This record gives sequence, C-alpha cells and structure tokens, in this order.
Amino acid sequence: MRYISTRGGIAPLRFQDAVMMGLARDGGLLLPETLPTVTADVVDRWQSLPYQALAKEILALFIDDIPDSDLEDLINRAYASFAHPQVTPVTKQGDVYILELFHGPTLAFKDVALQLLGNLFEYVLARSGGFMNILGATSGDTGSAAIAGVRGKAGINIFILHPHGRTSPIQALQMTTVLDANVFNIAVRGTFDDAQAIVKAIFNDLDFRDRHCLGAVNSINWARVLAQVVYYVYAYLTLRTQGERSVDFSVPTGNFGDIFAGYVARRLLPAGCIQTLILATNANDILTRFVNRGEYSRGQVRATSSPSMDIQVASNFERYLYYLRGEDGRAVRADMEGFAATGRLDLSAFTGRVCEDFRSRSVSEEETIATISEFYRRYDYLLDPHTAVGVKAALDLRDSGRPVVCLATAHPAKFGAAVSQAIGSEPPLPPALAELTNRESRCTVLAAEIEAVKTFVAANALR
Ligand SMILES: *Cc1c(COP(=O)(O)O)cnc(C)c1O
Repeated sequence: MRYISTRGGIAPLRFQDAVMMGLARDGGLLLPETLPTVTADVVDRWQSLPYQALAKEILALFIDDIPDSDLEDLINRAYASFAHPQVTPVTKQGDVYILELFHGPTLAFKDVALQLLGNLFEYVLARSGGFMNILGATSGDTGSAAIAGVRGKAGINIFILHPHGRTSPIQALQMTTVLDANVFNIAVRGTFDDAQAIVKAIFNDLDFRDRHCLGAVNSINWARVLAQVVYYVYAYLTLRTQGERSVDFSVPTGNFGDIFAGYVARRLLPAGCIQTLILATNANDILTRFVNRGEYSRGQVRATSSPSMDIQVASNFERYLYYLRGEDGRAVRADMEGFAATGRLDLSAFTGRVCEDFRSRSVSEEETIATISEFYRRYDYLLDPHTAVGVKAALDLRDSGRPVVCLATAHPAKFGAAVSQAIGSEPPLPPALAELTNRESRCTVLAAEIEAVKTFVAANALR
C-alpha cells in the first residue's frame, strides 16, 4: 500500500514514510492510493476477535512495510494502557448504544490513536537511527494524550505549550505530573491562540525546524485516522453478534478526523453494514452547513461547553473533499487555495452525494446540558458534553429501523463544570485523576514570545 497526497503533488510513499511526514510536502493530506475493502466472509472471520487482534487485521490492510509480529507488538503495547479489557466497550443506554472511547490513560478518545502513534514513531526512528522533537500547543485534551503517547520513548522529546492558568486544573495536572525526562511542559503567559501562533511561527522557521527535526502530532497524521477506523468495525461487530446487520454512528465532530475514520470504515465493510454517519457539531457549525447546504465557509469560533469541538476550519475535511472531487488532486488544490483566499467554498453541486454519507445537526448549549441531565435522570448514566452533542443529534436524526451507536469521546469527570450545570454536582473523579493533585509536577512558565520558546526548545531538544 502506497500513500499519495490529496493535492497530487508528491511521489507515492510507504506507510512508514507517510507516518513520519504528517502533512504532505505539497500542503495536502496523505491518503492510501486505494481504499481497501473486505468481503462478507472476512467480516465473519473477524466476528469473534478481541480488539487487539482485530486492529492487527485492519492495520495490516493499510501497512505493508512493518512485519506482522512487529505490528502485533506495537498494537498490544498501545492498548495495554487501557483500563477496560475490551479497550472500547459498547453499552446500551435507553435506545442508543454508547461506544466508550475514554478508557485510555488520559480518559479521552485521542488516546486510542496517540498510544499507537507514539509506538510507531519510536519504531520507525529506531530503525532509521533518527530522532524527533515534537512541538505542539494545546487547550487541554490533545496535549495530555500526546504526552501520554510518547512519554519515556527513545529518540523523542516532546514540548507542549498550554496557556498558563487557562486550562482546567485537572487538564494541566494531566500534563505537568508526567515527569519523564523527555517531556517538557511550557505554560505561556497568554491565551491558547497565543500558544498556537507561537508554534506555527516556529514551524514556519524552516531552518529551525530542520535543525531540530521538529515533528507534530496533530490530527492530520494518517496513522491517527487509521487507528480510529478499528473501533467503528469493533462496534459494528459487537452489534452484529446481537443479530444486527446494519448500524448508524453518531460522531461529535471538530476537525473531521474521527468521523473521517468512520467514512473509511464504512467503505471498508460491505455495503450497508454502516449505513449513515451522523455528524454532530456544537455551535461551531461549519460542517453542518456543509452537509445540509453544501456551503463550506469559515465563521467566528464560539466558546462552548464542548471545547474540543470549538473549531471552524476542520483540518481533515480535505480528505473527504478528495473523494467528492473524484480523486482529482488538482481540483482539490484549486478548492483549498480558493478557500484560503476567500474563506468559503461552494460545494452545493455535491449535496446529493454528501447526504448519502452523512446527516448532520448543530446542537445548542441548552440542548447539550439538557441531554446530560435527561440521560442521567433516565438511565443513571453520565455523558460528557462532547458525547452529549452526539447523543442529541442521534436522537433527532436517527432512522427508527436501525440501531445507532454514539461515540463517547471523553470521560464526564474531565468536564466537571458542564456536568455540574446539568445535574447539580460535579461527577466524582476517577482514581486516576483524583490522585494527580498529590503528585509532583514540573512545568516551565515562559512569556508568550516566539524567541523565549525557541531558546527553551533549542536548549532542551534532542540532537
Ligand atoms: C478531539 C475531540 C473531539 C473531536 O474530534 P475530531 O477528530 O476533531 O472531530 C470530540 N470530543 C473530544 C472529547 C475530543 O477531545
């Protein structure tokens, strides 16, 4: 399997090179040259596999430059850190199914991808004799999952900027209590936007970037999407053992990464296994406007109780656009250049096709809180605000003839304030979070200035 760019401007790459490249050099995103499909008898054979073995079967369809036994080892080590034996279990609450993706070390779904990505980076670097310095900015979730994914790994240092005093205390502790020598937390005296602007500026200094082998872990890395394909198939197979043959999924969406993995799973399985993907957004509804009206246009980012979805430009959207455009890299390049210049893209000619893949709805703050409250009252089950957005959209848009699986992307205790608004009290902290307050922590506070961060990175980078 070779990897190509959505903008058609690079020579095909092996999987290992695609993982290390992240963003394609022509500015596009990497995709497999062809999307693999499996037949019904393969699905039969997969039916009884545990999560790790299923992951190995699926990943091997996309990876041909890592020997089977090595791939197995990378997968087994990645998911050994999950607290649930099924890794991503499915539960039924009322008349929806909940796919719990929050049993990883930082209690958010990003662990599913980043636990594997950290192992892949280490594996590839060990073989090439190279090293990398990962640099990123976070408002909370991604940073802690990235740190958990690469802590203690050989050949990798990680530098994560967060806005000093502006993440939730628990999210800050999830990062700063990681004391491995390769982990550097930087609290900048500024906002998340300041932190992100600094990281962007440093990546744009090509000389600095090359000298220190800077790498990123953002959601455009193909390996992250691939790791997420597995749980869609796993959930489908779980319902299949109960006699279901066709299911829908509801996905709370920000960067389009998670739901794009659902799209790949839908194309991987025989037709009809995964019927509709429900794309749920909060007040930041650019993707809902795209699905329902064919209008992809940037708006103002609004702060909501589901902050990991407070995104206007969805970085993985270009991958789906590539298929809409009939795998024509030139057309994608023209679209993206037009979007960069004007902030809008008219895709209304495609709404018919898009509506076969997705249904979408934007969920308000009031609806989110009411959904958490109602679910708790009726089923004694706590939803985090991101998950609640997906559940609300599912209840509204579902087809009554088919089961719907809602992706639960974070543990409710990570978003205690929103949950407390809904049920009147904060959810109890699970032991893994509660004990953090007593732990030693380490963090460097810096001014929100590019030079200050560069100096710190240069002094502590692997070389
Ligand atoms: C990142 C995140 C999302 C959105 O995922 P995308 O891949 O960006 O669509 C949803 N919920 C939580 C809790 C997240 O951390």
